[in-house]
Amino acid sequence: MTKVVKFGGSSLASAEQFKKVKDIITAEDSRRFVVPSAPGKRFSADTKVTDMLYGCYDLAAKGKDFTKEFDAIKDRYNGIINELGLDLSLDNEFDVIKACFIGKAGRDYAASRGEFLNGIVLANYLGYNFIDAADVIYFDDRGMFDSRRTNKALTDRLEGLDNAVIPGFYGSMPNDTIKTFSRGGSDITGSIVAAAVNADLYENWTDVSGFLTCDPRIIDDPAPITTITYKELRELSYMGATVLHEDAIFPVRKAGIPINIKNTNKPEDVGTLIVESTSQKPQYTITGIAGKKGFTVINIEKDMMNAELGFGRRVLEVFEKNGVNFEHMPSGIDTMSIIVQQEAFADKEQEILAGIHRNCHPDSIDIETDLALIAVVGRAMKSNRGTAGRIFSALAHSHVNVKMIDQGSSELNIIIGVSEDDFEEANKAIYDIFVETKL
Ligand code: ADP
Ligand code: ASP
Ligand code: MG
Repeated sequence: MTKVVKFGGSSLASAEQFKKVKDIITAEDSRRFVVPSAPGKRFSADTKVTDMLYGCYDLAAKGKDFTKEFDAIKDRYNGIINELGLDLSLDNEFDVIKACFIGKAGRDYAASRGEFLNGIVLANYLGYNFIDAADVIYFDDRGMFDSRRTNKALTDRLEGLDNAVIPGFYGSMPNDTIKTFSRGGSDITGSIVAAAVNADLYENWTDVSGFLTCDPRIIDDPAPITTITYKELRELSYMGATVLHEDAIFPVRKAGIPINIKNTNKPEDVGTLIVESTSQKPQYTITGIAGKKGFTVINIEKDMMNAELGFGRRVLEVFEKNGVNFEHMPSGIDTMSIIVQQEAFADKEQEILAGIHRNCHPDSIDIETDLALIAVVGRAMKSNRGTAGRIFSALAHSHVNVKMIDQGSSELNIIIGVSEDDFEEANKAIYDIFVETKL
């Protein structure tokens, strides 16, 4: 049995956390391949090492003095090394990194050093082999993850090794520069390694006891989800349930490897098992709720829109030409609404409006900003009648005005648009009706 275990930033934020991690790894022989993140926050006002590195590099890139900021990063690692009593010095690594900062090696290089250094410390502490992710994780010329080259390099390198620590979050480009995945990307590295070694299980260790039915920053102590399908998880993580990076499921899914989300601070909790499919019924009608703020809706009206061939295509063409993705597109007979991310749209607003006028000659266009989207996700919704009705009545009860509703044809999720001001209240209302009162 082989497990790949990934530990997030808070699981490796201090020497005390490192000890918990070692206990977990040594508790089972199967935990042979370890993917660490950079040290995260030790307390809520603390700064993640990744953010310290970005800040430090930004000073370096402007040619400013960054000694103080760099020393603070050194202190984080030296504190851990000293408290664990390790016979290890990172002085050479620090010198190289400093020189590369001065030589403007790039923001991605800078950020990646958090995982790189933490990997060296963890490998030393565990007595495991250290493998630099730059030698085994590859991107192509366009900056896309190169799965074929990576798989070959990883299998060649890990074959015959009893154990290894491979830092998360980064890899290398064909020209040997360092590139990172997007934030939270160590989850993706863990998944890639699990697929390459054909692991039986990918354990993702974090600071919560699994995927929860709602964001714990909105609902106090929400009920955990014991089993969730890849599809449900992707819907939830895309919509802001950030416990697992939304792209982390692809490598393991292809290989049929389940993911288990576990809590480093409560290893005895079962956590959440993420699987391709399951006969297990969810505990509630819904599996989970997640949401995001920062959307804009563009409402387009034109009499007899439904009879006008190609109207929708011409509208979407304008967005495409301006490089703006749309998230949802609910429509009526004479109306069509396009929901986009506020930030991306704001840059191109006037070009897009002019384009729609020119291309489609609508009767009116009206824009609403500061919209929040909430995804109510669940494989059981298909077989339960009246889910949408219950959501509506719960929201009406809480005086939340629903601005948009969109149900995918898979009946796996219902997306609700509300004003950002109503976001927390709407989450609570939906959570209460399905989870608290078990309807
Ligand atoms: P790590 O550093 O271990 O990768 P993250 O911070 O990326 O951890 O993810 C864990 C955090 O995700 C939790 O502390 C929690 O605040 C947040 N979170 C948001 N939505 C959910 C959810 N539905 N279930 C669990 N955690 C969630
Ligand atoms: N350390 C990186 C970040 O803060 C990657 C990760 O934690 O997964 O985004
Ligand atoms: Mg994370």
